[in-house]
Parts: sequence; C-alpha cells; structure tokens
Amino acid sequence: MKSYDLLSCVWELTLKCNLKCVHCGSAAGKNRENELTDDESIKLCEDIKKTGCKSVALMGGEPLLRKNFWDISKKIKDLKMDLCVITNGTIYEEDFFKRFKSLNLQALATSIDGSNSDTHDGIRGVKGSFDKTLNFIDKALEYDLPLSVITTVSKRNISELNDIKNIIKGRKIAWQIQIAGAEGNRFDRKEVLNEEEFYSVGLFIETMRRNYGVEELPVIGAHDLGYNSCLIKNIWLYEKWPGCQAGISVVGIRSNGDVLGCLSINNDSFIEGNVRNKSLYEIWNSKNAFSYTRNFKMEEAGENCKECKFIGDCKGGCSEMSLTYTGKIHNDPYCFYKIEKKNFGFLKRLFYSFGAYLNKSQKDKAILNKLFSGVRK
Ligand code: SF4
Ligand code: SF4
Repeated sequence: MKSYDLLSCVWELTLKCNLKCVHCGSAAGKNRENELTDDESIKLCEDIKKTGCKSVALMGGEPLLRKNFWDISKKIKDLKMDLCVITNGTIYEEDFFKRFKSLNLQALATSIDGSNSDTHDGIRGVKGSFDKTLNFIDKALEYDLPLSVITTVSKRNISELNDIKNIIKGRKIAWQIQIAGAEGNRFDRKEVLNEEEFYSVGLFIETMRRNYGVEELPVIGAHDLGYNSCLIKNIWLYEKWPGCQAGISVVGIRSNGDVLGCLSINNDSFIEGNVRNKSLYEIWNSKNAFSYTRNFKMEEAGENCKECKFIGDCKGGCSEMSLTYTGKIHNDPYCFYKIEKKNFGFLKRLFYSFGAYLNKSQKDKAILNKLFSGVRK
C-alpha cells in the first residue's frame, strides 16, 4: 500500500466565532456540538505528531476563543511541529503578541476583505472589525511576527483589490487571495464571481507578481484559483498545479474530532472517521481512506473536466469548488484553462505559453515558500 506524507494539518479548534462573515463555509458562530475536551485536544496533538505531520494550522471559528488555545499551541511546539494560527484579528490583548512571539510561529494569518470599514465590516458582519484587525496587524508587525493577510474575493470587494494591496504592500506582509465559495447559509449566490471576474483575479495576482518584487509584495493565489493557464502561471508556490491535496499531503480536523481531507469541503459524506473512535494515525493510513484523491480514476471526472488533456494530473481542480458549484468533485467549473480555451484561439495560447512565462528566481521561490508554507485556505 502506498504511504502518504502528511505535511499539514488544519485544525478547527472551535466553531465558536464572534464575527458573522458572509462567506464562511461552516457558518461559524456557536460551538459545534460535542467539541473535543481539553484532555482530548492535548492527546490529539500527540496523535498528529505520530502521524508524521510537519505543520499544524489552528483555525476556527475563532481559535482564540478556545479556552486552552495556548496549551494546545505550546504542546504542538513542544512536539516540534511548525505552528500557524489563523485568526480574524479582533480578539487579542497586549500580551498575546508576546506569547505568539515566544511560540516562534511559522505564520500568523488574519483577514482583510475590504479596503475600508464599510466593505470589510459588511462582509465580516460586525461593525468595528476592520479597525480592530488593522490594529492587530500593526501590533503583529511591531512584534515582528510572520504575518499573512488573507482576502476572500466576491462581487462585493473585487473592485477593492488594488486598494487592499496599498494597505499591505511594503510592510512585510504575505498576502493570500482566495475566491469566496457559495457554501454556508450566509452567502448570497448572487455575489459569486462570474468567469470573467474569476479570471481577472488571476490576472491581478499575476500582474502584482510581475510589478513588485517578492520582498515588497509577496502575494499568492489559493488552491481555488487555477489551473493550467497559458498566461497566469505565476500565482502559486509551485510551478505546476499538483491536484487537490486533500488526503494526499493535508488533512482537516473539525472541533468535534471529525477528520476530512480538507476543511473547506463542508460535506459530511467526506468524513473519514473521528479521532474519538480511531486515531488520526489509523485514519490517515487506512487502506481506503481519501480515495477520491488517492485513487482518482479519470473516468470519474465530471462534464467540465472529462475531455481535458490535463485531467490526469489536475484531477478536476479544487474538490470544494467543484462540489459547491456542481454537486460533484473532479468537475471544477472555474478554471483558467477552460476560460482561455473558450476565449483565446490556439495560436494566442501558444504564444502566451512560450512568450509570457516569467521565471521566479530561486531566491524568490525560497522567500515565498518560507512566508506561505503554513497558510492555506
Ligand atoms: S478543465 Fe478541469 S481538469 Fe482541465 S485544467 Fe481545468 S479544472 Fe483541471
Ligand atoms: S478541496 Fe480545494 S482547498 Fe481543499 S485541498 Fe483540495 S484543492 Fe485545496
């Protein structure tokens, strides 16, 4: 049986949250029923380590609302795993920054979804959150923490990307741009980007990467932006889209112990087990686990992808986008390649393939890898 190296575990510490973001896939707010106890959460850290995991990203809900957040964080570091924290940046006290500093974080990520309080607070559902998060960013930079900002793009804020860039640029902040999925019961499907807007987000990132050095504006696109474009080649950490990594190199754990390949997949039929009944180590190493990515067969591709020449490696894009928009996986409706094929002639694609490629230097690659290795959607 082939074995899989677990690089990153994304752990929802609690579903409790003080904000009400419209795009939140799990519609966080209240605790999940039956969340892991403090003892179980500490035991889980050991289980994650035993599974061979290199890096743990703590998220929520709002992870800082979990009472034993600091104990879990310390345990992860004591076990010599890298630690990332993804917070909405509105719940903090002065001493938190010192404590983050002592944890030697791989990344501390927060979100900016608008260039002003009207847009950001409108998306995040609570007035005052923009100012609090800006202050969080200032403080984190004051303490020289490895800060990332995540922006989730929908029709509401697409026109503000350039202004958001002006908040971020030149401040040693790593910027990850991702697309709002239509999951969760707070998101109005009318705000989903159309194909043209989706493609223009890719072009925006590519342009930023060409216009600014990685030290001035380190920016990447998340997994839901891609794939196999002849023109937009430069928006991830890797050269080539390797296919959905759920169950291949990443795993997600919900606050009640349910294990899924990726926490963005908000569908219970993708639960592989629960750490209360079976260890993560056993779940990860089970023969038939995560079979949708590990044992993908080309004939499983949906109508959007089955004729595509890239299907073997791409496996049909992001499983979550695919599932949310089409009800099945391996069928991503949003894809640069498809959009280009529809709109550019063959010769134009050929020209871009050879003419428009911009190589990242080894130094740039190393910087980006260091900044983003722990931050994922
Ligand atoms: S059409 Fe599907 S398989 Fe082909 S590149 Fe796009 S997402 Fe991947
Ligand atoms: S479902 Fe999407 S976000 Fe999750 S691992 Fe797969 S590609 Fe990445």
